[in-house]
Amino acid sequence: GSVIGILGGGQLARMTAIAAAQLGYKTHIFCPESDPSATHVSTYFTKSNYNNYSALDSFAKQVDVVTYEFENIMVEPVEYLTTKVAVFPDPKILKTCQDRVMEKTFIQSLDIPTAKFQSVESFEGLKSAIEKIGYPAILKSNTMGYDGKGQVKLTDSVDLEQAWKKVTSETSASKAILEQYIEFESEASVIVARGLDGSELTFPLVTNKHRNHILRQTIAPAQLPESLHRQAREIGNKIARSNGLVGVLAVELFVVKNQTTGDYQLLVNELAPRPHNSGHWTIEGCVTSQFEQLIRCVCGLPLGSVDLMKRITEEEYIQQQLPPIVMTNLLGAEVNSWEKTLQTKGSHLHIYAKGDAREGRKMGHITQLP
Ligand code: ATP
Ligand code: MG
Ligand code: MG
Repeated sequence: GSVIGILGGGQLARMTAIAAAQLGYKTHIFCPESDPSATHVSTYFTKSNYNNYSALDSFAKQVDVVTYEFENIMVEPVEYLTTKVAVFPDPKILKTCQDRVMEKTFIQSLDIPTAKFQSVESFEGLKSAIEKIGYPAILKSNTMGYDGKGQVKLTDSVDLEQAWKKVTSETSASKAILEQYIEFESEASVIVARGLDGSELTFPLVTNKHRNHILRQTIAPAQLPESLHRQAREIGNKIARSNGLVGVLAVELFVVKNQTTGDYQLLVNELAPRPHNSGHWTIEGCVTSQFEQLIRCVCGLPLGSVDLMKRITEEEYIQQQLPPIVMTNLLGAEVNSWEKTLQTKGSHLHIYAKGDAREGRKMGHITQLP
């Protein structure tokens, strides 16, 4: 049987490995941690830094295809692997998604709206960027940020020098992006999958609720007008097609209301070229999960149906106004209260078997079916 190589050993790699095993594939985890969550369910494990090229060489020989579970991985080792073995998604996409300025420039080039933004390369540059963007705004490190790290909201009462220091020191990035602050109605996301043959499917649009910049809950499908579901699908497909995606990619969105017309519109916040926390509900909620879909994509298999379970289409689901599926993350010590969910009908428990339940860490999740 074929072996799928995965760079990274966290819960995304773990759930991908489980999906791979179900389809009869073995997985080989490559990451620097000693007891990563994903190795408990995979066949092979190379414990190594990502920039250890001799370890990458032997990894490449042992796998048939490579994918990765996070977008902040160094891009050079991934590019290196492409000279030895097929790697999906293409590291070009990874590169775009790592760099917020490149990412937003790419999205706008497709005529898809984002918040207004300016690239900021120095403290002096920040002052002139604010003249263009205005207050309120968000300053984000251009690379390496996640879970809201390396971000500051700027209003006219915030000390700019301190904000600049915080953003650049938290992620040790030297560049930043200044974005217009969006007064959104809600946050949403759509996950698009594109196969080796170019076929595309998007999972239903979902609503995401964050607490302290960490995803708290996903409501699926999003209880939003059908026109937005259509818009989201078009956005997802356009992004996947135009960068030649093979694999899955999450598009984080802001739902905004046009104050004059009252119409809703979607703005793209950021992209993640991998399975996404807001897609965990698809394990039980969809005919094919985002993890199985990724495996199908990278192995050249046909894509699986993204219908909601019980084979009700998204349209029927929305028209019948069925209650949504709810995924809730178990953060930090919350993971210890898993027992009661075993007694709840329609509740599915997922524990990632990660050692240290430090505050805010994603330790597991629950998907509650209606
Ligand atoms: P992730 O963990 O999703 O990768 P991240 O650190 O890369 O997060 P973003 O997704 O860009 O950061 O921002 C985190 C959150 O901050 C968003 O989900 C949103 O709630 C808020 N946010 C980000 N950009 C803006 C904006 N321009 N206007 C208003 N709120 C924003
Ligand atoms: Mg991000
Ligand atoms: Mg985000």
